[in-house]
Amino acid sequence: MLRKHLRRSSLLLLLWGLSLWSDAHILVYHRFDDPRHPTTNTSLRELRKEFSYLKEHHYRVVPLSTLVQALQTHRPIPDSWVVLTIDDGFKSFLKALPLFEEFGYPFTIFISTKPTQRGYPDFLSWQDLKKIAPFGQIALHSHAHPHLVDLSDEQIRADTQKGIELFKKNLGFLPTAYAYPYGEYDQRVKRIIESFGFEAIANQNIGAIGATSDPKDLDRIAMVGHANLSQALRYRHLDAQWIKPTDYPKDGILHEVKVRILPLYHTAWLYVTDHGWKRLPVKKGLVHAKLHYPLRKRRVRVIIKVKHSKINAKILVRSRYGAK
Ligand SMILES: [Zn+2]
Repeated sequence: MLRKHLRRSSLLLLLWGLSLWSDAHILVYHRFDDPRHPTTNTSLRELRKEFSYLKEHHYRVVPLSTLVQALQTHRPIPDSWVVLTIDDGFKSFLKALPLFEEFGYPFTIFISTKPTQRGYPDFLSWQDLKKIAPFGQIALHSHAHPHLVDLSDEQIRADTQKGIELFKKNLGFLPTAYAYPYGEYDQRVKRIIESFGFEAIANQNIGAIGATSDPKDLDRIAMVGHANLSQALRYRHLDAQWIKPTDYPKDGILHEVKVRILPLYHTAWLYVTDHGWKRLPVKKGLVHAKLHYPLRKRRVRVIIKVKHSKINAKILVRSRYGAK
């Protein structure tokens, strides 16, 4: 009996150890040195500070594909790995590119093909992208940057197909990674985007990447203004299976949260947009709460957190199509 108990304890410790030490972080940037848009801007001064921090603290900036391969082959994820991504393909990235080169940091830039195709001056041109291609990965961020949850299945497929075609035609290769516009998705959108066979799909849910993270649902931390990089790198991945909610509740009220986590914790904290944090007991690895939380915003974040800054976050987006 005792031996059995010990075996079980060491197994749990092993699992705990693995999950504690295996956490990469993916950061997402938007604009650089463009004070016209303070909510999506990072100054070059700030970027240099962040890059210097990563270097001084011996973080290894790796390409997204390296992280994805490690996840696909179930190799351990070194704690020091950081992946840098940029969304939207704004022209201002050209100002930041020399810094990426100076530090030798690879990156993935997710572009929407419509503004590029139309030659909007605020966006990178196909010519710019060809020049950037040798230094990093170029990937897809939809065609027209729509709110995907508000499109029908056919419209989502058409937007993605159009993006892939223009991408291939102008750059000569296929995109292997995708990032949801506005970081918005639900189970239906996820299923459709996945059907295109991208190796990696990125969201904008706060969190870290652990050995059990889904390469088709990668959490990223937004870096804007004076973002707190050291705090962002402290987050660890909480292995969690969301039983409820899976999508935005049809009646607009969050009635129940049910999440399975490793049976190592006695307490968890639940965050819901507009409702703040709530402490919950964990029983045999189950975080369970009956609630009556009216959801006022069309976009709601739900986060489960346990000790050691281990978190797992989810986004709920109101959709006129809803989950089937
Ligand atoms: Zn975007």
